[in-house]
Amino acid sequence: MLALVKSGPGPGLELRDVPIPSVGINDILIRVHKTGICGTDLHIESWDAWAAKAITPPLVVGHEFVGEIVEVGANVADFEPGDLVSGEGHVVCGRCRHCLAGRRHLCANTIGLGVGRDGAFAEYVSLPMTNVWHHWPGVNEEVAAIFDPFGNAVHTALAFPVLGEDVLVSGAGPIGLMATAVARHAGARHVVVSEPNAYRRALATRMGATLAIDPRERSLESTFDELDMVEGFDVAMEMSGNAIALRAAIGAMAHGGGIAILGIPTEEISLDVNAIVFKMLTLRGIYGREMYETWYKMTVMLQSGLDITPAITHRFGFREHEAAFAAARAGDSGKVIMDWTS
Ligand code: NAD
Ligand code: ZN
Repeated sequence: MLALVKSGPGPGLELRDVPIPSVGINDILIRVHKTGICGTDLHIESWDAWAAKAITPPLVVGHEFVGEIVEVGANVADFEPGDLVSGEGHVVCGRCRHCLAGRRHLCANTIGLGVGRDGAFAEYVSLPMTNVWHHWPGVNEEVAAIFDPFGNAVHTALAFPVLGEDVLVSGAGPIGLMATAVARHAGARHVVVSEPNAYRRALATRMGATLAIDPRERSLESTFDELDMVEGFDVAMEMSGNAIALRAAIGAMAHGGGIAILGIPTEEISLDVNAIVFKMLTLRGIYGREMYETWYKMTVMLQSGLDITPAITHRFGFREHEAAFAAARAGDSGKVIMDWTS
């Protein structure tokens, strides 16, 4: 099969012929239809300090996908060839305290698809059956392809109750964009998006933001009067990985507010702990998705009218992977999809 491979230490990816993955007795082999490009894939492609530490080449990269089952292992029930599925990219151990208690997203032994094991930027991908999620007939395949980052958005957006609340989203990358739509769907009063990139601010407005502001031009506090907010934001979602954004969010929170932190900073960040204490804020780290409550919520919210399609802005065939990666890196984009069927 053809796959996008990190062949050795150093920048770049190669489209190469590699063996179709083997299928163990508990595994499912999937013919990949469409994939989404994630920031993680960009880190691996460019071979930054994180990638050099985390990745052992050769590796098939990629973890956001939708595809069709072609083969199931001998132990597998409930899945049939022809089913349309996506995969949870975190393969957990199944044996630790949290896994045994059903809190699999808290597993400390998680292995990432396309990071610690061969991934989905390929014609075929193999996963344990416990990592495979059925889609409903008629699902939009582009949306199905990005259930993994959509799950990050939903997990973060539902970390604190948003019904009737004033919500801040810092960073309107693909995940911040989807989280904006989720917060709206879940009944937030205002969703203010802070994002320096004008293209992404325009997308945020399409996703339902009440206001999309450039943090270089205006402070978060300057929105309060305009939106009839008294004290500040009740809930914030940190989706930029940027220190200035997190500090600004803490400064603009109302007493008792909650900040869900998904963004991954590249360095340590110093924070005003006094503000956290005296405002009695709750800061909560979010990693991955809850297995599988988040997946359930994604499915039913889409079925009840949530629309995340404006967050998908670019489409390429897999042979145009260099152009696809360039579009994802450029910033004037939302989610970039690659098709593996053409
Ligand atoms: P992205 O890099 O496309 O988006 C980040 C956005 O933040 C960009 O649009 C950028 O312009 C904006 N930004 C930069 N400085 C800002 C500032 N001062 N104020 C407001 N916005 C600012 O990333 P993404 O794919 O949307 O992912 C969002 C974040 O979540 C990233 O940090 C990513 O590494 C992280 N992530 C975490 C998990 C997890 O499980 N915790 C999973 C996936 C991604
Ligand atoms: Zn575990």
